[in-house]
Amino acid sequence: MKSNYELRITNYKLKKIGGHNELSNNPVVSLKDVEVSFDGEVILDKLNLDIEHEEFITLLGPSGCGKTTTLRIIGGFLQPDSGEIYFDGECINNLPPNKRNVNTVFQKYALFPHLNVYENVAFGLKLKKKSKEEIDKAVMKMLAVVDLKGYEKRPIAKLSGGQQQRVAIARALVCDPKVLLLDEPLGALDLKLRKDMQIELKQLQHQLKTTFVFVTHDQEEALTMSDRVVVMNNGKIEQIGTPTDIYNEPANAFVADFIGEANILNGIMKEDGTVILQGKEIECIDTGFKPYQPVDVVIRPEDVEIVDVKEGMLTGTVQDVVFKGVHYEMEVISDDCLWLIQSTTCKDTGTEIGMRVIPENIHIMNKLFPTEDNIFTAKVVVGHAEENSMEIEIEETVIKVEGHCYAEGTTLEITLPPSGVYVPGDGNGQLEAYIESVIYKGKYNEIILETENHRWLMTSLQDEQVATSIPICFNFENAHFSEDYKGGEYGGDEE
Ligand code: ATP
Repeated sequence: MKSNYELRITNYKLKKIGGHNELSNNPVVSLKDVEVSFDGEVILDKLNLDIEHEEFITLLGPSGCGKTTTLRIIGGFLQPDSGEIYFDGECINNLPPNKRNVNTVFQKYALFPHLNVYENVAFGLKLKKKSKEEIDKAVMKMLAVVDLKGYEKRPIAKLSGGQQQRVAIARALVCDPKVLLLDEPLGALDLKLRKDMQIELKQLQHQLKTTFVFVTHDQEEALTMSDRVVVMNNGKIEQIGTPTDIYNEPANAFVADFIGEANILNGIMKEDGTVILQGKEIECIDTGFKPYQPVDVVIRPEDVEIVDVKEGMLTGTVQDVVFKGVHYEMEVISDDCLWLIQSTTCKDTGTEIGMRVIPENIHIMNKLFPTEDNIFTAKVVVGHAEENSMEIEIEETVIKVEGHCYAEGTTLEITLPPSGVYVPGDGNGQLEAYIESVIYKGKYNEIILETENHRWLMTSLQDEQVATSIPICFNFENAHFSEDYKGGEYGGDEE
């Protein structure tokens, strides 16, 4: 994370630049139910997105979530399997990239090394057979806009990374596209240059009033530059909103975790306005949950006020303190849960503190996984009555279950607690699973996995990397089996 000071400075500069905030009902680009699969794997899952005229919109999400694929669909470099792409209200599915009023800036610039700065920027206009005078006027204007006047004759190899990036932006903008697609354009720059370029890009967008569709996996970059942020995960949109909305009102634990720092804890909604957290009844403002519904409780570190022990709604002991320039960051253990607290008040390690959060800053969310346990069905392949064991089939893999035996061919409904799914130490898994989300719950990670036909909930002390694949095994020791399965929908079972 940026320090609060840096964030304030960048936000101040960006606020001065201003931005586009109004939503219209005539978006410049519209994606309707866009689906893309590669090798049978769904990459974009019925994506719907409206991009407004003149806005700076950012696609944000972990590596592999489908951001670049979305840009390629808009740019026309990739055809969706189904769904439509509209540009100014017209379906452009069959329009080739060069006929779309769109241009792209890539992370690796893709400049022509044998051409100088002027020739690189002029390239697109030459292809369009513009006159020499028109080209000259447009190129010189664009070089002035990106602050590269006087560099016309410079070979590309003799430019810094930031200058090369500006040439790439000038080249993409010189043909005056209505929409500019930017795929991690600042990814190759060092931190200082990256921050400067963030401000420059935003200024440029504001000045030219071109719609910018920006891709990044860096949440600070998304928050500081965008009018709106689209948070993506696993081919789906989790939330679309202004940076403030996304930060202050995250739609679910994934967004809260991905954007900034957050304490995300298990709670139970007793009734409207009251949540039970760490055994205490706490006032909140959220409503609309079922009585005693398990929920995720999200509290930002800066929203926890340190008070006297007797005044705290919860109490805790400071484990670690780090000075961060403006505030102190403290790790606090409260009822076995690790909390992160940011405060201008410093409390020494070992101090017992009271913790208070105003009801408006306690965010209650539906859990990402629909049930507390994994509930799924599986068929018995072989029953070994004599040794009280059986073999069941999950996704064409035969798995041995000890201590239970049902007759061959029985369809069982199995309730398996999250602890019954684990990553084997030797790497030999029974199934291969894709990690959809990893949320730290103060004591352990709550991990949602996806295999071919199922979603699984797993708890683990290990850190796992979202959007990667891992081997998993099952331990049925604490599972519950029932042969009363009559068909229907269960929790994570998608069969
Ligand atoms: P990153 O931040 O790492 O660039 P991203 O969110 O932009 O990630 P995409 O590039 O859209 O992700 O890729 C989404 C998924 O689709 C990835 O798992 C990727 O491996 C896969 N993918 C992308 N292009 C192809 C392709 N041409 N063939 C097969 N798989 C592909």
